Amino acid sequence: MTFALHGLAVSQGIAIGHAHLVSHAILEVSHYVVVPRHVPDEIARFDAAVAQVRAELDALRQVAEAGGAASSEIAAFVQLHGMLLEDPLLSQVPRELIETRRCNAEWALVQQMDLLVEQFDQIDDPYLRERKADVVQVVEKVVKALLGRPARLPTRRRPDEQMIVVAHDLSPADTIHFKQNQIGGFITDLGGATSHTAIVARSLAIPAVVGLHHARQLIRDDDLLILDGSKGVLIVDPDDRVLEEYRLRKRELELERSKLKRLTSTRATTLDGLAISLQANIELPQDVSQVKGVEADGIGLFRTEFLFLSRTELPDEEEQFEAYRTVASALKGKPVTIRTLDVGADKAMQRAGRVERVEPNPALGLRAIRYCLAEPPMFLTQLRAILRASAYGKVRLLIPMLAHAYEIDQTLQYIRIAKEQLRSEKIKFDEEIDIGGMIEIPAAALALGAFLRRLDFLSIGTNDLIQYTLAIDRTDEAVAHLYDPLHPAVLRLLADTIQAGARADIPVSVCGEMAGDPDLTRLLLGMGLRQFSMHPSQILEVKQEVLRSDFSQLRAKVGRLIRYDEPERIRETMARLAEL
Ligand code: PEP
Ligand code: MG
Repeated sequence: MTFALHGLAVSQGIAIGHAHLVSHAILEVSHYVVVPRHVPDEIARFDAAVAQVRAELDALRQVAEAGGAASSEIAAFVQLHGMLLEDPLLSQVPRELIETRRCNAEWALVQQMDLLVEQFDQIDDPYLRERKADVVQVVEKVVKALLGRPARLPTRRRPDEQMIVVAHDLSPADTIHFKQNQIGGFITDLGGATSHTAIVARSLAIPAVVGLHHARQLIRDDDLLILDGSKGVLIVDPDDRVLEEYRLRKRELELERSKLKRLTSTRATTLDGLAISLQANIELPQDVSQVKGVEADGIGLFRTEFLFLSRTELPDEEEQFEAYRTVASALKGKPVTIRTLDVGADKAMQRAGRVERVEPNPALGLRAIRYCLAEPPMFLTQLRAILRASAYGKVRLLIPMLAHAYEIDQTLQYIRIAKEQLRSEKIKFDEEIDIGGMIEIPAAALALGAFLRRLDFLSIGTNDLIQYTLAIDRTDEAVAHLYDPLHPAVLRLLADTIQAGARADIPVSVCGEMAGDPDLTRLLLGMGLRQFSMHPSQILEVKQEVLRSDFSQLRAKVGRLIRYDEPERIRETMARLAEL
C-alpha cells in the first residue's frame, strides 16, 4: 500500500531504492547474514565489545572501591554485572550463534538474551527473577559497545539498486561510516536539520530526511522507497506513475548538477567585481578529493573530532599529524583551517576504561574547548600535531565554543607551550600560524572586542549560534520548527560580528550551515561577508548565486533588513533580494 511521510528536508536530491532497516534503539537491533569469510571478523567484533565492557566495569569498580562505604552497593552491582558478562551463556554462546547461523553479533547476543530472559520469567524466587533486569543491562552495554564499532553494512544486492537506510536515530559516527559504503540516502525518526548527522549527510551529498517520527515502525525491510531530500517527503511503495515521475525529476536534477560543473574553474566574483572566497568544510582527510573536485579556495573548517569518534582509544600525535599533514599538503598552499576537537553534545566520545559522565544538558556542558582545557595532555597532543602539520601548507588553527576572554588566554598559553616543546625538539612548524576563534555563543558575538584583540581571524558557527540564541536544541525535531536563521536576533548578531571584524581588519568567515544555503547567499553578501565555508557539494550552487549578485544593490537593502524585528518584513525583503 502506498503512503507518504513528511519530515525535515536536510540534504537535497532524490533517491529511489529499497529500505534497509537499522536501529540504534538499544536491543532493537537489525539482523543480517554475514558471508562466511567475514564470520571470524564478526566474532572478533563481538569479543572486542565484551572486552570493552569488561574494561568499563573494571574502571567503575575502582571508582566504587575508592568511594568508601557509600559505594559498596555500587561495587556489589558492578561485581554482579562482571560475573554475568563472564558467564559463557553471554560471552560464549553468542560466538557460536554467529558461527552456526552466520548472523551479526548484535543479533546473536539479543537472541541469546531473549532465551535467558524467558527462563528467568519461570523462576519462582522473586530475588532471582529480578536478576533478569541485570542480564538485560549487561547485554545493553555490549550492544552499545558493538554499535560504537559499526558493522559492515550489507552490500547492494543489484548494481542498479540503491539502499536507503531507515533508522530511529543515527549518531554522527554512524553517518560518517556511510562514507565508506554505497548508500543512496537515509531517513531517521529523530534529528534536527543542523544536527551533525544531517551535516554529514549533506557532506556526503546524499538525500536525507530526518524527524519522520514513526517511519521505522511503518517501513519494512526491502520496501521500495522514494526519498525526496529537497521537500522532506518519503513515499513508501509508490505506484508506477509516481515512480516514473520521480525518475524523471531525478534525471533533471542530475542534469542541473552537471551543468553547474561548468562553474568549477570560474572565480567567485560579484557582478560589481568583489572577489568572494568559497571554502570547504571537511570531516575526514579523504574528503579532500571532493574539495579539489570543486576547486574550493581552501578549507574553512576541518572538523577534527571525526578522527576521534567510533573508537575507544584517542588517536596519538603521529596519527593526527599524518591526517593533518595529508590535508595541508594536498591543498598546496591554500588555507587549511583545522579546528581543535569539538566533542560533546551530539558528538559523544567513547574512551576505554572511563566511566561516562551523565551530563544533564550536554549542549551546555563540557563541550569543545571546555573539554580540551579540562584535558591538557590530550589538548597538547592535538596542538602539537596541528603545529607540526603547519610546516607542510598554510595551516590555520581554529578554536570552537569560546565564550570567555580567559578561555582564549588559556588556549594561547597551551599553544605557546606546544610551540616551545617543538622548538626544543627541533621540530619545524609555522611560527606565524594564524589562530582564530569560532563565534557560536551569543556571549562571544556580544562581547567581540576581547576576541578581536586576541585573535587573527573569526569564524561564525551559525548552527550553534542559532541553537544558543533561540534556546533550540539543534538535534531535537520537536523544536525544529523554531530553529530560524532569519530570526532578527540572529541576523543582528551575524551582521554586527561581520561589520566589527571589517572595522578591526580581522577576517571573518561563516562556516555554519547558513553559508552553504544558496537562498541566504545574497543576505550574507549584503552584510559584508567575503568568506564562506560549506560542504564541497554546495560550493557550485553558492558560486552561481555570487556570480548573479550585485553587492552595491544588496548592501542598502540588507542594511535595512537587519533593523527589522517583524518576521514578515524580513521575509518580504528576502523575497525582494532574490529578484534583484
Ligand atoms: C557551527 O556550530 O555552526 C559549526 C560550524 O560547528 P559544528 O556544526 O561542528 O558545531
Ligand atoms: Mg559549532
